[in-house]
Formats: sequence, structure tokens, C-alpha cells
Amino acid sequence: MRKPMVAGNWKMNKTVAEGVKLMEELIPMINGISSVDRVVCPPFTALYCVSETLKGSEIGCGAQDLFWEEKGAYTGEVAPNMVAELGQYVIIGHSERRTYFGETNETVNKKTLAALKHGLTPIVCVGETLEENQGGKTEAVVSGQILEGLKGLSAEEAAKIIVAYEPVWAIGTGLAATGPDANKVIADYIRKPYASMYGEEAAQAIRVLYGGSVKGSNAAEFFGQPDIDGALVGGASLKAPDFTEIVKAAAA
Ligand code: PEP
Repeated sequence: MRKPMVAGNWKMNKTVAEGVKLMEELIPMINGISSVDRVVCPPFTALYCVSETLKGSEIGCGAQDLFWEEKGAYTGEVAPNMVAELGQYVIIGHSERRTYFGETNETVNKKTLAALKHGLTPIVCVGETLEENQGGKTEAVVSGQILEGLKGLSAEEAAKIIVAYEPVWAIGTGLAATGPDANKVIADYIRKPYASMYGEEAAQAIRVLYGGSVKGSNAAEFFGQPDIDGALVGGASLKAPDFTEIVKAAAA
């Protein structure tokens, strides 16, 4: 049995004060929904205050990125142990990082290894662009992101990761994939290549989330699919009632 998870990616939104206010509103709404793992990923600047606000609650906290080096002259970067002081999770390889900041499967791989080394749970994002989708390249792109992104992870490490399938064309566009289409990509292009590295049993045990324009009104369509274990949520994670609706759909 894979426990459902709903994780919120705040992206570059919320100041410290706004983040704390959102948590004060959200905690009473979702704290009792223990059948779902609930996680928020604020920007680095709000991570400390949000993690303090979450103390004593059941809600986990994560960063949206990290750097793979331990410390040193890397201006602007944040080391894995700095994130591990404040949270349990880290989003790695989000398509916005790949598109705007030159991240590749190789950097995703380094970051994933570094996160695991420091006890963080990586939420590794994969997904094809519209052009790749229309060009029939979804399988090659997504399975390549899995095979290359997870290269060199031991079976024990690979068992700890969470994968988020986020078709790039569905992120922030309001154009979500259909439940069955997302499920097919996850079953065939994520779990299968994972199984080729770590075996079928391990592939059935890892959690895979769907992300891309998930909201309260469409969440059940995804959560009803056999291979989808929850959601990575962008826009709808910025308002407590919207995020709560998704968490409740995952619990249903
Ligand atoms: C995301 O940022 O990971 C995401 C899925 O965004 P949205 O829910 O806004 O499409």
C-alpha cells in the first residue's frame, strides 16, 4: 500500500509573513487528515519560519531546490545540510529549473544523490514538453529522465525517492492531462524503467505523484488512477481552502 501524498510547490511566491499566515490558516484545516502525507515547499527565504510554524503539526516541509556541493564558494546556492536543518523533502529537477536555469538529467542526478546523502526525501520531477508530446517523444524523454536522473542510486536509496510526473504543457496552464493519460505515462514510462534498474517489486512500492493544473475539481480524477499516488500542486497550494480540497480528495 502506497500512502497518498499531496505536496505544495509555492514557487517564487509568499514572503515570510505571507507564508506564516498561510500556514496558520492551513494547519487547522488539514492537520487531522493523517491518511495523506501533506507537505509544503516554500521559497528558501520562508523555509525557516514556515518550518517553525509547522512544529508540532503533522505537515512536512521541503525546499524547491538545493545544490549538490557540501559548502564553499558557490554564491547564491544552498547546501543539502542547510535544507536538512529545516525540512524533510526537496523538489529536484522541476521543469521550471530545467527550462530557465539549465538543469539537466545530470544535475538532477547529482542533486538527488546529495539530498539522499543528507537524509532528505527527493521529489524528482520528470515530464515532457508540448513539442515532445506532439512529436511522439514522451516515452523517450520521461524514461530517459528516470534512467539518467536516478543513475548510481543504490536500491536502498532509490526506494526512498518520490517521483512527480509533471507534463510541462500542463503546469500552470489550466490544461491538465487526463487521469488515464497520466496513469499510462507513470505505469509505462516511469515505473517500467525504474523496474529495469531496481526490480518490479521496488517499482510498485515507490510513490509517483501527478502535477500540472491540479485543483479541487479535478483531483479525484487523478487519485482514482491505480498508479497515481497523489499530487504536486503549484497554483492551488497558495490558498488554504484550495489545497485543503485536494488533500481531502486524496483522503477520499
Ligand atoms: C508545479 O509547479 O509543480 C505545478 C504542478 O504547478 P500548477 O499546479 O500550478 O500547474
